[in-house]
Amino acid sequence: MQSVPEKWDEIYDVVVAGTGAGGLAAAVIAASRGAKVLIVEKAPQVGGTTKKSFGFMWVPNNHFMQELGIADPRDAALRYMARLSRPSLYDPTHETLGLPQWEFDGLAAHYDNAADAVSTLVSLGAIDVSHAAEFPDFYGHLEEDESPVGRTLFPTNGNLSPIGGLVLVQELHEATQRANIEIRFDTKLADLVTDDEGSVVGAVLGGHHDGLRVQARRGVIGATGSFAQNAELRQRYLDRPYIGTCAAPTNTGDFLDLTRSVGADFASMNLAMQTPILVERIEREGDDFRGSFVLPGDALIVVNRYGNRVCSETASYHDLGRAFFEGSESKSTYPNLPLIAIWDEDVHNRYGADALGNPVPAAGADPYWVITADTLEDLETEIAKRLVALPRALGGSELDSDFGASLQTTLTRYAGFAASGIDEDFGRGSTPAQLALGGFFAQGSGVNPTMRALSAEGPYHAAILGPGLFETVGGAITDPHGRVVRADGTVVKGLYGVGTCVAGPWGEAAWSGGHNVAYALVSAYRAALHASGGKDDESAMVEAPAVAGR
Ligand SMILES: Cc1cc2nc3c(=O)[nH]c(=O)nc-3n(C[C@H](O)[C@H](O)[C@H](O)COP(=O)(O)OP(=O)(O)OC[C@H]3O[C@@H](n4cnc5c(N)ncnc54)[C@H](O)[C@@H]3O)c2cc1C
Repeated sequence: MQSVPEKWDEIYDVVVAGTGAGGLAAAVIAASRGAKVLIVEKAPQVGGTTKKSFGFMWVPNNHFMQELGIADPRDAALRYMARLSRPSLYDPTHETLGLPQWEFDGLAAHYDNAADAVSTLVSLGAIDVSHAAEFPDFYGHLEEDESPVGRTLFPTNGNLSPIGGLVLVQELHEATQRANIEIRFDTKLADLVTDDEGSVVGAVLGGHHDGLRVQARRGVIGATGSFAQNAELRQRYLDRPYIGTCAAPTNTGDFLDLTRSVGADFASMNLAMQTPILVERIEREGDDFRGSFVLPGDALIVVNRYGNRVCSETASYHDLGRAFFEGSESKSTYPNLPLIAIWDEDVHNRYGADALGNPVPAAGADPYWVITADTLEDLETEIAKRLVALPRALGGSELDSDFGASLQTTLTRYAGFAASGIDEDFGRGSTPAQLALGGFFAQGSGVNPTMRALSAEGPYHAAILGPGLFETVGGAITDPHGRVVRADGTVVKGLYGVGTCVAGPWGEAAWSGGHNVAYALVSAYRAALHASGGKDDESAMVEAPAVAGR
C-alpha cells in the first residue's frame, strides 16, 4: 500500500485488473456510463479462466424466463442458493436463512441484479446469449427449487460447446475495443494507493509498466481470478489436498495481499470448486488441460482402490470432486484417492471426445493416460503398475489385494442396477441433472440411459482420476456493491472486488453449471455501476452513449 504521490503518472476514473468475465464486463459497463477506464492484465492475452470455460451462466429470473412467463420468485431462489451454499447452517425460518449476513447479502445481490446485468451487457452489444431452456439446476429435485429449469444461459455463438467461454471473452474484448478502452498486457495491479482516510484512490502497476502510478478517481476494480494456481496458498488455506487445477496459470491470488494491505476481512479461504482431473494429463499437459467435468458412457464406472463404487458417476463435477475425500478409519485416510474410471470397448468407441477432460479419448488421439487390457485381471495388473508410477500427491496409493474380487462383485451389482434402471447405491441418473450430465457426450439406450452393464468380453479400459479444483472460493469479503469490507464492517472506499478474486457467497455450492461466470458478470455489473455513479451513489457520473452495437 502506498500513499498519494505528488504527481500521478496517468489519470483514469476506473482502473480494472484482469480480463476474465469479471474484468471485461466491469470495464465495458463503467465505460458505457462515461468513465475513463484502463484495464491491466498480467498475462500476455485476454481471458483468464473464463476463456477455458463453457461460458454457461446461471442467471435466476433471467429475461428469457420473464418473457416466457416462467416464475422464479426471489424467496424460493434464495432458499435454493442458501441451502446448497451452507447445508449445515441453512435455516429457512431465519431472516438470513441461517447464513452469515454478508453471504446472505451476496446471494440477494446476485438474484436482484443477475437479470439486469445480463440484459445490460446484451443491450450494449457486449455479449450475445441464448437460453438453455431445458437445462436443469443440479439440485432441481430439492423442494427449495421452485424453478428447476430455465436459469441457464450460454453464449449464442458458442453453440453449447466447450468453446463458449472463449466466445464470451472474444465478444467482451471486442466491446472494450469499440469503447476505446486500453488494455495493457503483461501488466499487473501491483499495489494500491490510499489517501489519508484509507480510501483507495489509485494503483501502482507492475510488469511492463513497473512502478507507474495511476490515479483511479472512481475506484480500482480487482477481477484477478482465484488463487487456484498458487500451490503455496493452496497448501496454506485449503482443507483438502488437491493434486492440480485447470484455472488460468496467472491466477495466483494477487488480490489477497492487496486487500490484506488495506485491512480486508476474509472468508471461505478453505473452500474450492471441485472436479475430478485425469492425473496423468494434468501432470503432462498442465495449464492447457481441463478437469473431467462430465464422465461419459453408460458402461463406465468409477471405483476406488478397493474395487468399490463410491458415488454416482453422473453427479455434478463438484460432487464427484467431494467423493475423493470421504474418510475411512478402517482403511486409510483417503480410501478414494485416487479413483479409477473403468469402461468397456463399446463406450470406448462411442463416447470418445477431446473435450472437458473426457477420460475416453477421441479417435486419433494419443491416449497415453488410458490403460487397456484384454481381461479384467490384466487390467488390474496394469492399473497397479500405473499407480506406483504416480506422484507422491496421491499418497503412494496402491491397489488393495482384494481389488479384483471386489471389482467383480461391483460389476455384477452394477449390471443388476442397469437391468432394473435403478442404482440402489448412488442413484445414478436418478435426477434430471444427472440424466443431462450423463447424456452429455452421447445418450445411452438402456432402461436408465446412463447405465449399461459392462461387456463380459474385453478389451477394457481405465484411467486414473484425482481431486482437482478449478477455482478457490475464498478472499476478501465484499458488500452488495462489490466494495471490499474491513474486519470492523466498514468499507474500503474506492476498492471493488468481482468474480473469483474475492470471497464467493456461494460457499460450498455449485447451484448449477454457470454460477461462476454469472457471478463474475453480475458482481462486475454491481461494482461498475457503483464505481461509475450508480443508483446508490449520489455523485452519479453523466451517462454516456452506450457502446456501439456490433
Ligand atoms: C474447464 C473449465 C470450465 C468451466 N466452465 C464454466 C462454466 O461453463 N460456467 C461457469 O460459470 N464457470 C465455469 N468455470 C469456472 C469459470 O470459468 C471461472 O470461475 C470464471 O470464469 C472466473 O472469472 P473471473 O473473471 O473471476 O476470473 P478469470 O477469468 O480467471 O480472470 C482473471 C484474470 O486476472 C488476471 N490477473 C491475475 N492477477 C492479476 C493482477 N495482479 N493484475 C492484473 N491481472 C491479473 C489473470 O491473468 C486473468 O486473466 C469453468 C472453469 C474451467 C477451468
